[in-house]
Amino acid sequence: MSKDFDVAIVGGGMCGLACAIGLAKSGIKIAVFEAAAAFEQVGAGVGLGPNSLRALKGLGLFDAVLTKSDQPKPTTRLFAFVEGTGTHKQIFDYAESSGVKNCEGLGIYRPAFLDALMPLLDPTCISLNKRCTAIQELPSGRQLLHFSDGTTHETDLVIGADGIRSITRKKVMGDGNDCLGFSGTYAYRGLIPIEQLKAEGVQTPVETRPYCYVGLGKHIITFPIKGGTVLNVVAFDSSAHPGHLLPERPHPWVEIVSTKEIVGGWEGWGDEVQAIVSHLRNPSRWSIHTLHPPLKSYVRKRVVLVGDSAHAMLPHLGAGVGQGFEDVYVLCRLLSHQKTTKANLEAALAIYDELRVPRANMVLEQSINMGKIYENYGPGHYDVEDIRRHIKGMWEPVWHHDLEAEVDGAIRRFEMEKV
Ligand SMILES: Cc1cc2nc3c(=O)[nH]c(=O)nc-3n(C[C@H](O)[C@H](O)[C@H](O)COP(=O)(O)OP(=O)(O)OC[C@H]3O[C@@H](n4cnc5c(N)ncnc54)[C@H](O)[C@@H]3O)c2cc1C
Repeated sequence: MSKDFDVAIVGGGMCGLACAIGLAKSGIKIAVFEAAAAFEQVGAGVGLGPNSLRALKGLGLFDAVLTKSDQPKPTTRLFAFVEGTGTHKQIFDYAESSGVKNCEGLGIYRPAFLDALMPLLDPTCISLNKRCTAIQELPSGRQLLHFSDGTTHETDLVIGADGIRSITRKKVMGDGNDCLGFSGTYAYRGLIPIEQLKAEGVQTPVETRPYCYVGLGKHIITFPIKGGTVLNVVAFDSSAHPGHLLPERPHPWVEIVSTKEIVGGWEGWGDEVQAIVSHLRNPSRWSIHTLHPPLKSYVRKRVVLVGDSAHAMLPHLGAGVGQGFEDVYVLCRLLSHQKTTKANLEAALAIYDELRVPRANMVLEQSINMGKIYENYGPGHYDVEDIRRHIKGMWEPVWHHDLEAEVDGAIRRFEMEKV
């Protein structure tokens, strides 16, 4: 082992496993604790933008992820926006945004991503069926994890990768200070064979690129998968709720609903929207939650948050896990640095906080704004020009941040600090 400290990672999701591999590669002793009894084959598809792919490359995970992705290589995935009502006139093509440079991305299913990573990790590092219930700081400064089965684990550093309903976040924020709330939006997700939609007269070339059908209080995101034969659909409905955060919803947040329930909500929208929602089979309804206001810090002493536990955001920029991968890249660079030891762990974590909080929270805020834009198109609200003006360039700061240069600069400062 290259370091005099060990690390416990709470949560074996996309960010937790990426982090485990990144640290293990540098010879850091790690243990991963995952609440689920198995890495189940459930989950949804996520889009990974250019910044996500750079972070995965930096972590040495890109090739493994590519082999399990839906695509042979990254492709340009720019959205076009069409009216959700009437004849579905195209309003805006994101390619018209000035300064659009490399925008190649990848789509992957969460289970496929976990499958890609598992072979890269020593299985003895992972404990399943271990739900963390509390973290206790010992007089030595070490951390004691408590699990629901009554067992404990002592470690130098806890990385909280336990997702949106994070227990580790409570340690960082203090009990009772959690800012998790229901956004008021339901997302209906499902898959549709594209030939069925074509047979129904859908003219928009949904098989070629991502589309967003915009309107008032609702919008639909579509993107083709499986070589353009299947359409991945997420239909968002915020119409029943005001635009502010509501108390956390009771569980489960993901429920199977009937197609009939969804269809009823889209009366009056255009024919293509009707065709899309009526062809969703076994759709699931997700109650979309977010952290707001965003956390001021992702670190407390020797507990540090990554991914959704730090900045669970609305999905309207498709950027949540990408910010998680950026977290993991930064944290792995700092913890594996030759200067980092048990004695100066907190100094390294302070740099992580300094870099990650402003950036990930900016993306979180922009994700909220983007949802408001998509769902404000219609008579008396935004017109075509407003939509173009607001959406133009929105992804550029997310995709084209030079994270590597930022970390290099921070590490140079760390090397000069007397810690
Ligand atoms: C509708 C929708 C669409 C989305 N689309 C995109 C997209 O296109 N692009 C994108 O980048 N992001 C997208 N996201 C966001 C993305 O899914 C999340 O950001 C990402 O899954 C977060 O990964 P994570 O590893 O932080 O958390 P998770 O994947 O949630 O993993 C957390 C893990 O921790 C475990 N766990 C929880 N509590 C405990 C505990 N107490 N003890 C031990 N283990 C625990 C869980 O079982 C789980 O395995 C979308 C989200 C939604 C809801």
